Amino acid sequence: MTNYVKFNQSTVGLTQPMVFRLMFLLTLGSVWLMCIGGCGSDDSEKTASDHQITPTIVCTIYPLYDLARTIAGDDAEVTLLLPAGRTPHGYTLTAADVVAIRNASLVIAAGGGVDTWIQPELIRRTKNQQDSLNLYHMVSEGEEEGADSHEGHDHDHGHAASAINPHQWLVPHRAIEYVESLQLWLEGNVPPTLQQQIRDRAKALKTDIEQIDREYRGALSDLDDRRLITFHDAFDPLAAEYDLDIVVHIFSTEQQQLTAEVLASCWQAEEDGVHAMFIEPQMDAGMASRIAKSATLRLLDPLGGRSDKPGFVTYPDLMRSNLQSLLEGLRDNSGNK
Ligand SMILES: [Zn+2]
Repeated sequence: MTNYVKFNQSTVGLTQPMVFRLMFLLTLGSVWLMCIGGCGSDDSEKTASDHQITPTIVCTIYPLYDLARTIAGDDAEVTLLLPAGRTPHGYTLTAADVVAIRNASLVIAAGGGVDTWIQPELIRRTKNQQDSLNLYHMVSEGEEEGADSHEGHDHDHGHAASAINPHQWLVPHRAIEYVESLQLWLEGNVPPTLQQQIRDRAKALKTDIEQIDREYRGALSDLDDRRLITFHDAFDPLAAEYDLDIVVHIFSTEQQQLTAEVLASCWQAEEDGVHAMFIEPQMDAGMASRIAKSATLRLLDPLGGRSDKPGFVTYPDLMRSNLQSLLEGLRDNSGNK
């Protein structure tokens, strides 16, 4: 089975909603085919020998990698391109990366501008009929299908209304959708004898992520002051999900420098009682200390995987550490008014 989430050449112009819609329908179609006819059906061209090779999965960023390896266990070889602790914005592929990508059974990307360096290889894979899974495409198609099911806030900090923020893995229900898609792909690409354990691991993981969602809702529900300042726009989808109000982004993704206006906005927000100020691990510490006047700077990590930060090793660790950090920061708002 090789046609799970496939790009074809006509879709790589990106930005045309109709094309995305078509691709989503094709994707759904192939999932259905996989579900309905894939398991031991007599017209399948596959034989047992097709399943002898362990699938290889290459992921661009750590959170997607961590979830993938949890579901795959020993039944697929899962590798990571971007070293943990580095920002995906601005990475360039090494020669070894390119070899790994071209040999992989599946490539998993965040998409939407997070890991643009994978885009040429995704285009190439499409031409070669190789599988790819792109989180951004999954979500943007889902949003189009579901119209206004997920309104979120209407902040005035520069997001185009129609653009979907690509940092979707930080929203638990999106992570669950990703787990389900990957589970389907894996079930179609391992021997039948291994399918049940893949389903079991995926189920356990989904249960844990559902629990994380409850923890966020429970802990954040009764806060009066929901304002915060973040490093860049990585936490916007999470803020929308849990009704938090990000009043300033310190950096834009495109422009990684602190402008005078943004600095002034940060200071104004602090004067207005916003003491929940969050930086990301890759941020220059010296610059961070120039920003905060009275706020205690705390860490929100969108990526995780840092062995020097024990709380950030797995996706569930990362999400729970970020929740703790959010709570501490948001409680400072009321404490320091
Ligand atoms: Zn980002």
